[in-house]
Amino acid sequence: MLCERCSNSIHKYNMCNSCNRKICINCVKSSRRMDKRTRIVICKDCWSKMPARQKFKSASSRIQQ
Ligand SMILES: [Zn+2]
Ligand SMILES: [Zn+2]
Repeated sequence: MLCERCSNSIHKYNMCNSCNRKICINCVKSSRRMDKRTRIVICKDCWSKMPARQKFKSASSRIQQ
């Protein structure tokens, strides 16, 4: 399997919650665990887009409360 952002070959992918691409760990900018099964991930591309970044931040702030 290839990373959809940088084309590195990967065995285990992370899915960006904003663009839904399957990306490698190098392309993950940040991730948060919601619970045992759910993890939210943002890629480096989406991190530079304000709406996606704010969505990620509001999702992660809900976890901490
Ligand atoms: Zn990658
Ligand atoms: Zn993304």
